[in-house]
Amino acid sequence: MRVNNPSLQSWVEVAPDSDFPIQNLPFGVFHHTEFGPRACSAIGDYVIDLVAVAEHSFFDDLDFDKSVLSNRYLNNFIRCGKKITSAVRNRLSEILDTDHDEWDAKGLEEFIFVKMNEAKMLLPIQIGDYTDFYSSKEHATNIGSLFRDPENALLPNWKHLPVGYHGRASSIVVSDTPVIRPCGQTKPNADEPPVYGPSRLLDFELEMGFVIGKESELGQSISTGEAEDHIFGLMLFNDWSARDIQKWEYVPLGPFLGKSFASTVSPWIVTLEALEPFRMPGPVQDPEVLPYLKYEGLRNFDINLQVAIQPEAGAEKVVCNSNFQYMYWNMSQQLAHHTVNGCNVRVGDMYASGTISGPEKGSYGSMLEITWKGTQPVEMPDGSQRKFIADGDTVVMRGWCEKDGVRIGFGEANGKVLPAKPIA
Ligand code: CA
Repeated sequence: MRVNNPSLQSWVEVAPDSDFPIQNLPFGVFHHTEFGPRACSAIGDYVIDLVAVAEHSFFDDLDFDKSVLSNRYLNNFIRCGKKITSAVRNRLSEILDTDHDEWDAKGLEEFIFVKMNEAKMLLPIQIGDYTDFYSSKEHATNIGSLFRDPENALLPNWKHLPVGYHGRASSIVVSDTPVIRPCGQTKPNADEPPVYGPSRLLDFELEMGFVIGKESELGQSISTGEAEDHIFGLMLFNDWSARDIQKWEYVPLGPFLGKSFASTVSPWIVTLEALEPFRMPGPVQDPEVLPYLKYEGLRNFDINLQVAIQPEAGAEKVVCNSNFQYMYWNMSQQLAHHTVNGCNVRVGDMYASGTISGPEKGSYGSMLEITWKGTQPVEMPDGSQRKFIADGDTVVMRGWCEKDGVRIGFGEANGKVLPAKPIA
């Protein structure tokens, strides 16, 4: 695909550390004071207004209903299929290319670009269902060691299937939406009855989410070979977790209110096509998996991931550097497992990876692991300590791939924690 060519250069100035070179061209939805929500892409420090690009006739030869670009969500655009969405990215790369000489590209600037700091990014998809997996072996091993037995940290099913649960879609919010500290029932003392109040152990979970771009029929399963046809793209995903609520409520049916109060996603969907150059092998799966979970080719992706805590005043503290490549179960296996019982998927469904921890201490993807259940607090630049997330803290997640001088980034998934609002 032309758009992935690392030697492409744009006439738009793109800083070397920008997430949005001409090779990325992710999709999002933005809002501007002068008009309503519109589909967009990004280059450098600019949002590219896709409605304006269409109005300049650049998509005239592409066979899709251009009105999908002025929808509040991208679902109908994504539903047009990869043939169209890929053609749109390719066309954008032609317009933005330095070699471009058919029209006065510079003259386009004032029509199709909006400065990123003047655009409000919105949640780009109407999310139908949300499923959360538990697919990082290092994370599952850490949790098993902390709460059960380090010698038998993984439960017997873990290496045989990608464990998951159905999450809550209504509370998934876009980056920069504040997160109110949840209240609920916890049991701080084993010998005393449970209590109601604000969660004291509020945590983040560093994850990647993928968005479904092609539906399947009820009763039909999706093979690992077909899975990537159904995956439109990826986003950063913070699966906020209230550990104290979670610990008391989760037996025997699993996560519930300790998870459902909020999840934060980055505003840009980076297409699977843009990530093509960053494929890599996954870990060896031993024991051998059942035939329906076997796959061919490279299905893991080399995506650097970082988490920082930004206190209300003072400098941020980076608390985690991880990588999406650590996933034991890849997205194709997750989707094959999810549908092996005939469960259907729909455009706009969201699937999160589960917390992505790497093998070393600096690569753990939650405060629960970083502080080892609160026993090893993080020292902040201002001299304070964190065992979990404090009111006023903003959790910042970043993600980017880098190869051959090209950096494909995801933007940020940020959420500031506001004080709880307990029932009087
Ligand atoms: Ca999770």
